[in-house]
Amino acid sequence: MQYLFFIFLGISSIIFANIIFNPFVSQSISTNLLLYSVGKLAGLIGFLFLSVLIISGDTARFFDKFIGIDKIIKFQRKFALITAIFVIAHPLFFMLSSGNYLNYLIPNFIVLPLALGIISLYVFIIIMICSVLYKKISYQIWQYIHILTYILFFFSLYHALNVGSDTENIFVKRIFDILLIGIITGGIYRAYYKIKHKKFKYFVKEIKWETSDVFTLKLKPSSKLHFKPGQFCFLRINKNKLYARHPFTISSSPNEDTLDFTIKITGKFTKIASQLKEGEEVIIDGPFGIFTIKDGKKDLVFIAGGVGITPFISMIKNQLHFKKQQKITLLYGAKTEKDLIFKKELDKIKENWLKKKFILSKEEKHPEDWEKGYITRELIEKNADNLKNSIFYICGPELMKNGVVKTLKDMGIKEHNIIIESFFW
Ligand SMILES: Cc1cc2nc3c(=O)[nH]c(=O)nc-3n(C[C@H](O)[C@H](O)[C@H](O)COP(=O)(O)OP(=O)(O)OC[C@H]3O[C@@H](n4cnc5c(N)ncnc54)[C@H](O)[C@@H]3O)c2cc1C
Repeated sequence: MQYLFFIFLGISSIIFANIIFNPFVSQSISTNLLLYSVGKLAGLIGFLFLSVLIISGDTARFFDKFIGIDKIIKFQRKFALITAIFVIAHPLFFMLSSGNYLNYLIPNFIVLPLALGIISLYVFIIIMICSVLYKKISYQIWQYIHILTYILFFFSLYHALNVGSDTENIFVKRIFDILLIGIITGGIYRAYYKIKHKKFKYFVKEIKWETSDVFTLKLKPSSKLHFKPGQFCFLRINKNKLYARHPFTISSSPNEDTLDFTIKITGKFTKIASQLKEGEEVIIDGPFGIFTIKDGKKDLVFIAGGVGITPFISMIKNQLHFKKQQKITLLYGAKTEKDLIFKKELDKIKENWLKKKFILSKEEKHPEDWEKGYITRELIEKNADNLKNSIFYICGPELMKNGVVKTLKDMGIKEHNIIIESFFW
């Protein structure tokens, strides 16, 4: 799926470059013409990237099941910066080529296509500033800003079709057709999704403290949310100017009555979430994510660090409920015994299929079945019996996650048998 996306972007960009620079291959080109041509190419690629950015945002919830919406959003943040470079380079190179700056900065409505191009540039800059400040912008205003993206697309399209001298080319026309279809489909999908999910409501039932800085937020849903163990939701709280949504993995299993999120206090949102009172509303968007069990036959090795235990507790409780027998080895790292979340729940499970090991880095006392230190190659080899026929799931702090992935690769574990969840947001 991702490859198709990059192939489309690559081929489209090559077509644009070929159309613009092909006429100059056999002749010399003046500096001004070169600057002008680069400006044209930046405009076409900027429009392509901008459209893809809007389409990928609108369809992110659909493509979640293939890629994971968190990965799409993280990719979009970087891709928006690349898009900004092309969009800004478009008028900049024209200014440099002509030496005339005001023509490209002040809209003159007598030449409507050019004026709409300049307005598009300003709309784009407004949207970019708002996305940087998204934590400070109310969700409702954020929704209105989203409508601006469609205005931006249609203004830019009108500008490109009426000013761009290369848009008569059949390949360019087809690429524009694909983008237009993508924008319309994406917009319809987004509206459909929003309407469909408006009816779900979630209210705080209880806040349960797990450790000194980790709590479980138990929500009572108005109707049952269907999810797979390991998936996450975006949470929003409509108070204290907490506008941005934050992702949290569901720590309850699908058969439980409450929808639980086990949260470590790291900043403003998590702190205020810990102070929620019974009956208050939490707005939920989800479930999302592909950190779920796909292979029912292979053994599973869960490697968790700190609050990274949340997807695994949901998976283990689900397996317990359905009386499945898939072998699970849980290697759970934390600083001290007090930092172990769900220790009591895990200790209660006496099934043969679950083997667990606590690895504590800063604890002095170490009962027999615990280990001191960190998750190393020796520790994995000692505890996981069937390395070649296992799937490894990893969720924990970035440093631990990266270290474990490297260790597993060094051990010869195939990449497709290593499944990673990143809590970095
Ligand atoms: C798919 C997914 C699932 C997640 N599931 C859970 C979960 O089950 N439980 C849970 O507690 N958290 C989870 N997180 C992380 C959680 O979303 C963030 O910790 C939270 O949004 C931080 O919000 P905040 O306003 O409290 O902190 P912020 O004010 O946003 O951040 C406070 C400080 O901590 C740093 N920071 C924030 N988040 C992280 C992070 N994840 N790793 C390293 N540094 C960070 C920031 O850079 C900042 O310096 C998940 C994240 C993702 C992407």
